[in-house]
Amino acid sequence: MGCDGMDYSTIVDVFDKMEATSKRTELTDLIVGLLKSTPRELIDKVVYLMLGRLRPEYEGIELGVADRMALRALSVSSGLDMKSVEELYVKTGDIGEAAEEALSKRLQAVLFKDKLTVERVYSTLERIAMLKGEGSQDTKIRYICNLLNDAEPREGKYILKIITGKLRLGVADYTILDALAVAFTESKENRDILERAYNLTSDLGLVARTVALDGLDAVKAIGVELFRPIRPMLAERVSSAEEALDRMGGRCAAEYKLDGERLQIHKHGNKVRIFSRRLEDITSHYPDAIDAIMASIKVDVIVEGEAVAINQDTQEYLPFQELMHRRRKYGIEEAMREYPIALNLFDILYIDGRECIDLPYIERRNILEGLVNGSMGIVSIVPMLIVSDAKSMEDYMLKAINEGCEGLMIKDLNSPYRAGARGYAWIKLKREYRSELADTLDLVVVGAFHGRGRRAGRYGALLLASYNREDDTFYTVCKVGTGFTDEDLERFYGMLSPYIIRHKHARVNSRLEADVWFEPRIVIEVIASEITLSPLHTCAMNAIREGNGLALRFPKFTGRVREDKSAEDATSVDEILSMYRRQLKVTRQVQASEEDTGMIE
Ligand code: ATP
Repeated sequence: MGCDGMDYSTIVDVFDKMEATSKRTELTDLIVGLLKSTPRELIDKVVYLMLGRLRPEYEGIELGVADRMALRALSVSSGLDMKSVEELYVKTGDIGEAAEEALSKRLQAVLFKDKLTVERVYSTLERIAMLKGEGSQDTKIRYICNLLNDAEPREGKYILKIITGKLRLGVADYTILDALAVAFTESKENRDILERAYNLTSDLGLVARTVALDGLDAVKAIGVELFRPIRPMLAERVSSAEEALDRMGGRCAAEYKLDGERLQIHKHGNKVRIFSRRLEDITSHYPDAIDAIMASIKVDVIVEGEAVAINQDTQEYLPFQELMHRRRKYGIEEAMREYPIALNLFDILYIDGRECIDLPYIERRNILEGLVNGSMGIVSIVPMLIVSDAKSMEDYMLKAINEGCEGLMIKDLNSPYRAGARGYAWIKLKREYRSELADTLDLVVVGAFHGRGRRAGRYGALLLASYNREDDTFYTVCKVGTGFTDEDLERFYGMLSPYIIRHKHARVNSRLEADVWFEPRIVIEVIASEITLSPLHTCAMNAIREGNGLALRFPKFTGRVREDKSAEDATSVDEILSMYRRQLKVTRQVQASEEDTGMIE
């Protein structure tokens, strides 16, 4: 195909098939086919559209057209009155389908339609996204109508889905990376190279465009850049200081592990941007952090740290929840006064024109220490101790817990910063609770069951799943129905409804039949008493025993919705498997010591 554009109907055909499939391999094949038939200079745009966006997520460009406005445009373009259009929406329950039906009933057939191209759809959507403020509504509607007037009913369906943020094709970033490797390089093996570039840029469109236009070598040359967030390095967990030390080869750094919000801070001259763990731009939540960074750091940097709410009088750390007051658009000044923070830096990824992610941890730490001397206002460096025996590690952990920390973050002295990866170069060590699992789990809501009695009309229980990166699939691990307040139930109903889908999602593996299925999006935190074998759940199926997966026993919602996590950041199948193995080991040790002391009859 030449450079003379691409029919919008080509991508609509593929989107239709993607929506219909419940097989992940088919999904990848469809994406490969679409990428191959896309003119190369349009690749990034097609990738963004497939994700229901116009630009990488961190740029925060939202189409966010309200349903009502979209329906008004639909009414104008179809010639149906507003009431009929609204009825169609209620009847179909889907704005895209309402559009398809309304447009196929168009009163006057439009005789001279201009064929829609991808370029035209994209640039019109871009204009809609840029329009802000008073009086922009009518212009937005005009732009939408301009597209709908020339759209076939099926094309209109996806235009409305995209502008209202309701496109649900179920493609994960990793699926797209796979598809890019197949479509533009010799083999799937090259996916690692693409993934590295994605981890450093958080921009799939950029990676796609680079590989399609300039090839693999150009992708290899992609590096860290200011104001382009880097996907965060993540930690594994172990349950004892001995085990952590063992993994680290006998010597490592132990840092305080604070329970707040992770910030990635980019500073260039007097411009500062802050990204969350999910890489959303949250600069506006932390004016105080910006002032503090400007005051204490003179050079250009990318640093990472944990913002923690503190009690100003006692300087004690406060629970994570206190930080949530920052997540608001208005009144941030008050929130700043009432809920002051401390900013504890723990890593540096770029300094003065030079990326430092490939330097060993200890060198990065030295640079950081040279940068911030002691404590400068609210900015300081996370306390750290180099340890080479388990006793010192435990003592240091007790000290940290006493000062209001969750535990320790154990770090490999020689490890580079592994963007976007979870591994044993960082290990989280938290306080042990014998009666409960040592740690909470972050699980994805994939389905729900209707409530009865007091919960009639709401969800009575949610079906939760863990994530398996290898096959990009969510495996169920429990049904949770406890720990919800009445407000939680209300909130969940509203929060989940945009993600309802007709059939089990293509990337969900479940033996249970839920009453309602969701697109895997919402992540919630649960605690449980233990992990058990279960034939009902598919997490780690057959890994321990044939025909059995792993399930949580007595799971309970902790009250925390992990807005800072995407579904793919949920606790993984591997993590649950290793938690199960650790639990077996602990149980055996406890039994052995109880037998020794004659406690077991
Ligand atoms: P994860 O971020 O690993 O998916 P999570 O969000 O459930 O898991 P934790 O299990 O509490 O978080 O541990 C990791 C988080 O701890 C980091 O993402 C970071 O926000 C925070 N953290 C606190 N102190 C440190 C530190 N010294 N070094 C690195 N991270 C730290």
